Amino acid sequence: MSTDIKSNLSKVEDNIIKACQSSNRDREDVTLIAVSKTKPVSDIEIAYNCGIRDFGENKAQELKSKYDKLPKDIRWHFIGHLQTNKVKYVVGKAYLIHSIDTYHLAEAVSKESVKKDVVSDILVEVNVAGEETKFGLDTLEVIDLIKKISDLPNINVKGLMTIAPFTSNPEENREYFEKLHQLLVDIKGKNIDNISMSVLSMGMTNDYMVAIEEGATYVRIGTGIFGERNYNIT
Ligand SMILES: *Cc1c(COP(=O)(O)O)cnc(C)c1O
Repeated sequence: MSTDIKSNLSKVEDNIIKACQSSNRDREDVTLIAVSKTKPVSDIEIAYNCGIRDFGENKAQELKSKYDKLPKDIRWHFIGHLQTNKVKYVVGKAYLIHSIDTYHLAEAVSKESVKKDVVSDILVEVNVAGEETKFGLDTLEVIDLIKKISDLPNINVKGLMTIAPFTSNPEENREYFEKLHQLLVDIKGKNIDNISMSVLSMGMTNDYMVAIEEGATYVRIGTGIFGERNYNIT
């Protein structure tokens, strides 16, 4: 049976509204990113026709290829681990790069942005749960990295991103979302030049309602919209 993307989107929308209400937040302060990685262009078109404009991809070439085929008012979010040799596919096409975790990578994005005469908005990825298998920085390393990035040309740090541990009980991730929010507030308080720190990208299919209650401004939802991913056919 094919996935009913339209009805999934309306369920997700209802949940986002509920989470905003339970935490006294405005619906407009939360943006849904439909994570379309591994999914065909035809699935993206269905979501686009339902009004979605923010899509997330985690592979540089896949983002580039979908960018070329789809309407130009889509805001593409790069959410995967980025290798410096793939930066050229993403800069100038991604609306926001969520996964900057080294100075070396930030430097590559800055260089490519200067070359293309664009400004790249980025988030710094933080491994708040301290999981060894995940990319992303330790909270103490984050402030130092952001200070260093703030001196690079054509790159703006907008906020923080995290991938919380996989769990069937979203309450278990609340403490990590709270931590990331607090870190954002702490960094904002330092008033670093060129740094605005207003974006919190956190929450996926299993835990986005808790993430919204803890201050997420972007939630990244794949399975909950497009159904299970099949990595064998891509
Ligand atoms: C795949 C992915 C998502 C979406 O995950 P779902 O559990 O399918 O909602 C969100 N963020 C990142 C970084 C991802 O790689």
